Order: sequence, then C-alpha cells, then structure tokens
Amino acid sequence: QRSVLVVGSGLAGFHTARALRTAGFGGTLTVLGAEQHPPYDRPPLSKAYLAGVVSAHDLALDDPEDPLDVDWVRGAGAAALDGPTRTVRTRDGRAFTADAVVLATGAEAVRLGPPVPGTHVLRTLDDADALRSDGVGGARVAVVGGGFVALETAAAATALGARSVTVVSPERNPLLGRLGPLVAAALRGLHERHGVRFVDSARATGFLTHDGGRVRAVVLTTGGSVDADLVVTGVGATPATGWLSGSGVTLGPTGAVVCDVTGGTGVPGVWATGDCAAWDTGVDGAHPGGHWQDAVDQAAVVAASVLGRASAALPDPYFWSEQHDVTVQVAGRVPADAYGRVVAGSVAGADLLVTYERGGVETGILGMNRPREVMRWRRSRAPRTRLVASA
Ligand code: FAD
Repeated sequence: QRSVLVVGSGLAGFHTARALRTAGFGGTLTVLGAEQHPPYDRPPLSKAYLAGVVSAHDLALDDPEDPLDVDWVRGAGAAALDGPTRTVRTRDGRAFTADAVVLATGAEAVRLGPPVPGTHVLRTLDDADALRSDGVGGARVAVVGGGFVALETAAAATALGARSVTVVSPERNPLLGRLGPLVAAALRGLHERHGVRFVDSARATGFLTHDGGRVRAVVLTTGGSVDADLVVTGVGATPATGWLSGSGVTLGPTGAVVCDVTGGTGVPGVWATGDCAAWDTGVDGAHPGGHWQDAVDQAAVVAASVLGRASAALPDPYFWSEQHDVTVQVAGRVPADAYGRVVAGSVAGADLLVTYERGGVETGILGMNRPREVMRWRRSRAPRTRLVASA
C-alpha cells in the first residue's frame, strides 16, 4: 500500500497509525478526526481528569518528544465513504482517497432526548470540561445508568465533594447482567460505603426543569423522581457509523461495522477497529468491543492486515475500571448469565476475586484490588493460535 487513510483520531485510530509506522510503513498516512483536539486517552475523563487530578496535557496519546509521522486532519468529520474507490468525503466538502481505509470512528454517548441545561453525557474531552465547569462540588448529582462510566462518574463526583450522589440503576444492582450477582452486590456495597445512594430497578424517562430551563429532577419509570442540580447520563454508547450508510460496509444489529478476524469489512481495502467495530473473535462470535485494550489489540491486527502480513494472535479480552479506592480488572470472558465463584476475598469487602466458567471450563477472572492475581491469570492463558492470513 502506498497510502492509508484512517478515519477517527481516537485510541484505535492513533494506535493503527502507530502500528503501521512501527511495522515500517513508509507511505502516506492521513488520519481524519472530527474533534479539534489531538488524539487523547478517554479513560481518565471519568476518573482522574474529572476529579481534577490530571490535566488535558496528560491525556495526549502522541509523544511530543517523538511524534508520529502522520498527517493529522482535525475538525474533519467524515460524512460519507464510497467503498469501491475508497474515498471519504468530509462534512465540509473535502475528499480523501487512499489505497486502504481504516474505520476508527468509535462511539457516541446515548442521550435521553434533547439537551437540557445541567444534564451531561461523558464521552469526549469537551463533555468532561463541560461537566467539570458546571460545578459538581456541593451539587446534588444524579447519575443515570449503572454501567462503568456511570459508576466511575459517581465515584469522581463523590471525590469532588458533591452534596449527594444518586445512581439511577436499571438493574437491581449495577452491572448485574454483565458481571453476575456477586460482583454487582460488591460494587453496590462499595459505592454505598462511600455515601452513594442507589435508586435501583428504575430508568429515567426525562427531566423536570426550573423556570430558567435548568434541570431540577430526574423523572423515573417507577413514577417517582430524584431531585438533582446536575445530571450525568451514562446509559451507553452507540457506534459512530451513521455516516457509513450506502458505503457497502455491513452494519450489525448494534450499528457496529461487522468485521472478520482480520478487521476486514468485506469491502476490499476497507478495515475497521475499536468501538465502531464488531469483530469476529474466532472464539465466541461477534465481539462488540467497547474497551481500551480491545481497541489497541485490534489496531495492531488491522495494521498487519493492511500491510498484508500475518499478525500475532489477538489476546483474550481485558479491561479495567476505577471506582473510589478500588480498581476492578476483568480478564478473559464473562459468559452471559454468569454467576461467578468467589476464590478469595469477600462480597462485603473491596478485595473480591471471582472466576467465571462456562460448561465447567474457566473462561475469565475478575479482581477488585487484586492486580497480581488477575495478571497472573492473564499470563497463564496460552496465547490463541489464530493467525491473520497474509493477503
Ligand atoms: P474513540 O476513543 O471514541 O475515538 C473515536 C474518534 O473518532 C473520536 O475522536 C471521534 O471524535 C472520532 N469520530 C467520530 N465520528 C467521526 C467521523 N464521522 N469522522 C471523523 N472522526 C470521527 N475502557 C477500559 O477498558 N477501561 C476504562 O477504564 C475505560 N474508561 C472509559 C471512560 C470513558 C469516559 C469513556 C468514554 C471510555 C472509557 N473506556 C474505558 C473505553 C475506551 O476509552 C474506548 O474503548 C476507546 O476509547 C475506544 O477507542 P476508539 O478509537 O474506537 O473510539
């Protein structure tokens, strides 16, 4: 390939560019990004950055001392892809054509209707800045949703001195469906020990506002409401793939780009990676992604695919979350409806170690403040032997 165009300058786009250069790609490398910011890391947005512990400078992915040889085009939102010619048109009318195109547009936060002053989502640096400047300290904060970003935001709001923090969780306990009842109970206990209140088994249907238009309460499906000066909606993200309609690329039921084990989309010369993609993992079917390590690992495979080389095997999934004084790490797979088995610590403490299994075979492990055990388990897993076919 003589030219590669990466669409999306987030984690997956940045790491694809880096992997291409590391692999010796010497052609033209252009990365389009809708945001005005240089590539940055998202996990701190709901943790240390929100809590004011690190600055935007600390989030930069590119090393100013050793910058990547890449043509970064900022403020260039892609509006359409013509698959056969591998041409991307931007919202401001520019056109970019390359021998290979990598789709890495990530995901967008789901909103509960039109924006209401005092309500926030948390996906971008601008979202985090808007939330921080809205005065979390001293406020009655309501967090809608019981996923990772919602729970991390609740913890950061507590650290920032919110007057109260209430999580409106659709499940009985947060992440019950994802991580099973033991971990869900442990997470709820952790937050409650830090003063977070839960309104469980409830969803938000909308907001009540003051005369001036600012939010004053979250209205619940259960009929009640939660008074709030500030609301953060953390109800998930949807792949940023609307611009791909008519491109020939197949979108799955979640809207993610359907990919094979190499990141190939089925359109020659077009690959996808990160949160906008659903990869065939070769193990358990389509994998929706959504985590940092997935994006980094997939970027390495995609870079090899683009160059027509065999890549190392894609490792088992891994992700982490930080809430209050606990780091949660999950390695391997948590099967649907998994219960989990406590192998160390306790549900009542902040030191739980749980394994998951399917059909009698251990598939994954979760640790709360158990980095050594989780990393040991990760190392012990034989690397998967699947290789990406050479083109
Ligand atoms: P993104 O990082 O979303 O980047 C996509 C980029 O594409 C964005 O810059 C976007 O502006 C741009 N874009 C979108 N549409 C277009 C378009 N049409 N044209 C051009 N550019 C476009 N994962 C973990 O494992 N652990 C964590 O603790 C953790 N914490 C997180 C906290 C927050 C607040 C968030 C939002 C995510 C967190 N994640 C975490 C998930 C992790 O950050 C993502 O999986 C990762 O960022 C995915 O990378 P990506 O490049 O696919 O998408």
